[in-house]
Amino acid sequence: MPSAPGHSPNFALVPTRFRAIVPPSGMRPEDTLTLDDLARWSEPGTHLAVLGHPVKHSISPHMHNAALRAMAAHDARFGAWRYWKFDVPPERLGEALPLFHSRGFAGLNLTIPHKVLALDLIGAIDPAARDIGAVNTLRHVPGGYEGFNTDGYGMAAAIAQELALPLAGADVVLLGAGGAARGAAVECLRQKCRSLWLGNRSRDSLDALVRQVRPLAGGTPLREFLLAALPADLPAGALVINATSSGLRGDEPPPVDLAAWPRPACVFDMIYNPPRTPLLHAAERLGIRHANGLAMLIHQGARALAIWTGAAVPTDVMQHAALSALDLRP
Ligand code: NAP
Repeated sequence: MPSAPGHSPNFALVPTRFRAIVPPSGMRPEDTLTLDDLARWSEPGTHLAVLGHPVKHSISPHMHNAALRAMAAHDARFGAWRYWKFDVPPERLGEALPLFHSRGFAGLNLTIPHKVLALDLIGAIDPAARDIGAVNTLRHVPGGYEGFNTDGYGMAAAIAQELALPLAGADVVLLGAGGAARGAAVECLRQKCRSLWLGNRSRDSLDALVRQVRPLAGGTPLREFLLAALPADLPAGALVINATSSGLRGDEPPPVDLAAWPRPACVFDMIYNPPRTPLLHAAERLGIRHANGLAMLIHQGARALAIWTGAAVPTDVMQHAALSALDLRP
């Protein structure tokens, strides 16, 4: 799927300041919309949206609309494309998806808590997404939506970009056993990591994750542990991936003490807001290469936009828009 800047038209030629486009209804893509807004939908053009609950914090409309404006400078079709955000409670996802389909929404992103729920509500599922057991990207096809998962791709692309580290051949220590960890574990196995160590706070979700990924492991050694009891034989030079939500609040201790391990090569934290979690602070203090999850957010979004549009997507424009939305511009 063409989302790498190297394969893109020269988006650098696109002016960086764009006219804000206000649709006839007065609704703006930055607004948080509801199913009531969808029921009376009459916006012209081609529409995309992220559905979540809550979803107010999402910066996806900023990233996607910036990319679409840049793409429209090369292909006028995209001038009529808009990306919105809708707050959809989980108990209404079943009625929401046919409504979005009937309103002609060309693509949807799903975020918390819809990624797993949607599996039973869509007709076709990409095999990689089925292995993960979650979808974050839906594409409009006749009769319904087809589901994909671009989170694993986004993570691998971010780790390659930010840490120059291929997953192939890496010893990976993955922290967490929720939806994000599922995608990460499947991607690490798909890309033939050398070994995969799965660590989680609680036993039940760790067991469920291990049950799900073990059939996909083939010959790759798979080890499990509780965060409270680090194994003595953790490999040196590992890639540590934080897929827990520990660090989101900024004031909690890191999920593990990096100093108590054989020295890892790199630490990747999926959290991007706050931009530096206590785990990344610890990595910095110890001189370990590290990166946060912003590039993952951008690459998973760029991949989704490429799936919907079939066109090259300017990841650099998405990154600039994301940094602006988070008020983190250099
Ligand atoms: P989730 O399904 O709710 O899973 C949360 C995980 O975090 C569980 O394994 C949970 O452990 C663990 N956890 C929560 N608080 C903890 C603490 N204080 N100490 C240790 N472990 C703790 O969430 P998710 O969807 O997998 O998302 C996980 C994180 O990844 C979130 O921060 C999310 O923002 C981030 N993420 C980023 C991107 C991106 O594009 N950058 C994409 C997806 C997700 P238990 O099982 O013990 O409860």
